[in-house]
Amino acid sequence: MNNNTKNCFSVDVEGFVESNLQSFHIPEKYISRDKENYEIEKNVNFILSFLDNLNVKGTFFFLGRIAQDIPLIIKETAKQGHEIACHSYEHKRIFGLTEIEFKENILYSKKSLEDISGTAVYGFRAPDFSITKASLWALDILKELGFLYDSSIYPIGLHDVYGIENTETGIHTLPNGLMEFPLSTMEVFGKSLPFCGGGYFRLYPLSITEHFIRKSNSNGSPCMIYIHPYEVGNEIPQISEMSLYRRFRHYYNCKDGYKRLAKTLKSFDFCTVIELLKENQFVDLKLQNNSNIR
Ligand SMILES: [Zn+2]
Repeated sequence: MNNNTKNCFSVDVEGFVESNLQSFHIPEKYISRDKENYEIEKNVNFILSFLDNLNVKGTFFFLGRIAQDIPLIIKETAKQGHEIACHSYEHKRIFGLTEIEFKENILYSKKSLEDISGTAVYGFRAPDFSITKASLWALDILKELGFLYDSSIYPIGLHDVYGIENTETGIHTLPNGLMEFPLSTMEVFGKSLPFCGGGYFRLYPLSITEHFIRKSNSNGSPCMIYIHPYEVGNEIPQISEMSLYRRFRHYYNCKDGYKRLAKTLKSFDFCTVIELLKENQFVDLKLQNNSNIR
C-alpha cells in the first residue's frame, strides 16, 4: 500500500453499443436491448466476483433503464456492499437534453435505482462526462433532486466531446453545496491530461498510471478510477464495420483488462465514493440532515 490516501473505484454500467452510439456509426443490426442486457449481466457478474476476490468495494453508476430491464443485477451489486449510483436514464449526453428532460430522467432513475437496490443513491455521473460549460445547469438540478455528489467533470481541454479546461481538480464543494469529485488528471508540461479510466487506463502503460496515482496519493489526493463492464468482463460485441482507428481505441487491452485492473487494485487502497466522502467528513452533516435519504 502506498500511504493512507484512499482512492475510488467506479464502474459506469452500460453496454458497448449504447455507450458508443453517439460517438460513431454503428449499423442497425448490432442495436438490440436484449443483447446489451445479456452483455451487461455477464460482465457485471464477472466484475462482482472479481472484486469479491480482491476484497474491493466500488461505486457502480447504473443507467436508470437497467433498473427496469435487469433489476436483479442491481440488487446483487447492492447486496455485495457496493455503492449504487446513477448514470442517467439512457446513455445520452446531457448537453443534448433540455433541462426538463434531464430532470424527469434523473428523478425517475434515482427513484428506480433506490427502490430496486433498497439503498439511497447519493452520486451521479453523466454519460460521456457530458457536464461541460454548456450544461452546468445540470448541477443545480442534481442538488435539487437530493444528490450529494457529482463525478462528471473532466478538467481537461483536449477532448472533442467532454471536458472543462482550467477548472478545479480534486474533490471540492460547488457553490450550490453539491460535492464534485472530478475525474483524475495528471499534469504534463502544464497541461492536465486524463489517465485514470476507460480508454486511458487501457492505452497507457500501467507503470505511467500507477506513477501518477502514487504521486497524487503522496499529496493526499485520492484518484478516481472508472471502467466499463465490457473493458473487464469477457463479453464485448465485435463490430466488423468499425475503422481500424476505432478498433484500436475501443478494443485494445480489453482482453487483459481484468489482469491490469487487478494489479492496480492490489497496489493501492480503494473504497466507494460515499465512504471516502464520509471518512473525510465532506458529507457527514448532510447525510444526517438530508430528508431525501433513507
Ligand atoms: Zn457511460
